[in-house]
Order: sequence, then structure tokens, then C-alpha cells
Amino acid sequence: MNLILLGPPGAGKGTQAKRLEDKFGIVQLSTGDMLRAAVASGSELGKKAKAIMDAGDLVSDEIVVAMISERVDQPDCAKGFILDGFPRTVPQAKALDAMLAEKGLRIDHVIELAVDEQILFERIRTRVAETPESERRADDNEETLRNRLGVYHEQTAPIIPYYKDTGALKSVDGMAGIDEVSGQLEAILSD
Ligand code: AMP
Repeated sequence: MNLILLGPPGAGKGTQAKRLEDKFGIVQLSTGDMLRAAVASGSELGKKAKAIMDAGDLVSDEIVVAMISERVDQPDCAKGFILDGFPRTVPQAKALDAMLAEKGLRIDHVIELAVDEQILFERIRTRVAETPESERRADDNEETLRNRLGVYHEQTAPIIPYYKDTGALKSVDGMAGIDEVSGQLEAILSD
């Protein structure tokens, strides 16, 4: 079972993906985590990505598509995967479809975590204020968050109508409690 979790930064995609990993034995593939690992390793890719990520902008479609293409070929993805933070642009969504088709794979579910962004923004603002800087992600600050939400609207939100058109899109209430959201996701996936 292969799925995509959609939603703005802070909607809880990562938290829910981790729970689904345990429940369904499928693997979370987070392009953000992969890029952070590249930055930490000091690789050429990491050096290129760091400034872009710190500003809250998007790294190139080619880079993330290639990363995911390589990753889904690994044996631990055999039972399926959860894409978290990818695709983030319509060209990435189209490239994903083409790449999976070539591998004889497909996406079974695209699920949007629908959130009230004003409340989300306040939540993240509180988290930023309460978490010591040393424990925060480099892009977890108010200015970058504002940019990340802007980038989400401009570049990522258009993939929602893209998946609506394919008929694959489902939506859950991302503002509900963590257990409630997990319950809604499991109900969709167990169908
Ligand atoms: P995330 O952890 O998903 O919020 O991603 C952190 C940062 O990594 C983003 O703000 C982007 O700079 C970069 N990033 C992650 N996934 C993608 C993607 N699919 N396309 C482009 N940039 C990405």
C-alpha cells in the first residue's frame, strides 16, 4: 500500500506517518528528513540544499524526484510507503506518477490533513517560543514559517486539485486530536 500525506507545514504529517509505519508495516519517506540528513553529512547535495531549506524555499524538483526514485527501490519499501512532504509541486506529482508507472507501482491513497492555518500558525509560534533554539529545526522560526506557508500556498496547494481530478484524494480533519486523526486515517486505509 502506497500513500501520500498532504498538508501544510505543521499539520502533523510526520507524526501520523510514524504511527502508520507501526500499524501497517510500511515505510515513511520524508524528503525533508532525507535532505536534513544530507545537510548533516556535509555532502555536496547537503551544501546546496542548506541555504534553500533555511529560507523555507523548495529545492529543485529533479533532486527530490531522484531521491524518492532511488529510495522506493530499497527492499524495506516492498510492503509500501508513505510519502511525507513529497510531492510538493505539480511537476513533482507528475514526475512521481511517471516514475512509479515505470516501476510498475502506483499510489493507492492521497490523504489531505485539512487544517485551520491561523490556529496552526499560533500553535507553531507557541512551540517556537517554548523550545530552546538548540532543540529546534533550523527552519523552525516565525519568519521562515511564514515563508514556508506562502510557498505551500503558491506551489504545493495546486496539487490538491490535481489529485481531486484523479479521484484519489481523501481528506481528514487535521485539527482533531492525534489519536482521532490516526483513527480517521486507519479507517480510510483499512477500507
Ligand atoms: P519538511 O521537513 O517536509 O518541512 O521539509 C523541510 C524543507 O526541505 C522544506 O522547507 C524544503 O526546503 C525542503 N523540501 C522537503 N521536501 C521537499 C520537496 N518535496 N520539494 C522541494 N523541497 C523540499
